[in-house]
Amino acid sequence: MILKKIYADNAATTRLDEDAFEAMKKYMIDEYANPSANYSFSRIPSKAIEDSRGIIASCINADKNEIYFTSGGTEGNNWAIKSIAHSKHLKGNIIVSKIEHHAILKSCKWLEEQGISIIYLSVNEKGEVDPKELEEKINSDTILVSIMYANNEVGTIQPIKQLVHIAHKHGVLFHTDAVQAVGHIPIDVKDIGVDFLTASAHKFNGYKGTGFTYVSSSIEIDSLLSGGAQEKGKRAGTENVAGIVAMGVALKKNCETMACHMSKIQHISDKLITMLDMYKLDFIRNGSAYSLPGIVSLSFKNIEGELLMHRLDFKGIYVSTGASCNSKETVASHVLEAMNVPSEYINGTIRLSFGKENTLYDAEEVAKAIYEIIQMKQVMKSK
Ligand code: PLP
Repeated sequence: MILKKIYADNAATTRLDEDAFEAMKKYMIDEYANPSANYSFSRIPSKAIEDSRGIIASCINADKNEIYFTSGGTEGNNWAIKSIAHSKHLKGNIIVSKIEHHAILKSCKWLEEQGISIIYLSVNEKGEVDPKELEEKINSDTILVSIMYANNEVGTIQPIKQLVHIAHKHGVLFHTDAVQAVGHIPIDVKDIGVDFLTASAHKFNGYKGTGFTYVSSSIEIDSLLSGGAQEKGKRAGTENVAGIVAMGVALKKNCETMACHMSKIQHISDKLITMLDMYKLDFIRNGSAYSLPGIVSLSFKNIEGELLMHRLDFKGIYVSTGASCNSKETVASHVLEAMNVPSEYINGTIRLSFGKENTLYDAEEVAKAIYEIIQMKQVMKSK
């Protein structure tokens, strides 16, 4: 049996954009000089890094000198949280939401062991942070607020501008983990007013192991990695030139075609829900109306999400259960727990995440496959 593979796990990672792939090859094979060297051979790779920095800055309305290249979302998140905590001599408190990615939550846990207090904001059943709760919990000891732009499991987009406004009113810095949002929805750092923003290339058709962090020019941030003078001494280590070039190409392309792709992907997500409703399946769609267009988190009643995922895999359909970065652990997702997803549904959760390669046909096939698996399970149970 030859299966047409349907990849519906774009929140875990995306396919590298082919133009990005073409652009990066040159910096691996021909222009491979170390960009920090003083001879002329390093001029082209060094210029390529600066060109990419300019492209990326313009995609999020930042200045070029506010973009720092990193290895991705995990590093950017660790950098923002840990550097601010250390610059304040590990005193005070940091406010985060309960549904942050583990790169934030585990950094917080580590800091907690060293004396920083962490205040966790709750979310409602749609995964939304309430700005009023931030207003209540923020205090004179707060050194940083870090709330994700959009959630990786359910897609809920947070009211970042409002939250930033509250933090700044109290003189507190604001970081946002925008790993799932950058390249998928419009982002304007000047408009939302964040001090730090973290992004990762492989979530927007760039190359794995590259990312960037926006640091507002009005802020000083300490270095996380010590060593060479790269990235104005803030992030030592020879740059991943090819990855940085690919990231610029991929982000520019995604931003130029964003409106069109957002609407196409929204149609695919809507189609999936319409089909599942048509099959009269008992499920909850998690998340809010203000969500990333491609993330569809579904909790089916009295069925294991793990089983659904494996049966779909057998049919050539790739989805995830809970957070992909954590998919080896079979514990109930901290995001769904925080959202109070009812107990008879929570274990039946799968996350589908559509990207620009997906089609309406994929949504129909996925819905049909889910229906067949659940039907089969019910027939087996009744025997
Ligand atoms: N933050 C969020 C919201 C994510 O979804 C992920 C990855 O899934 C990360 C951070 C980590 O990013 P990276 O894989 O680039 O380290």
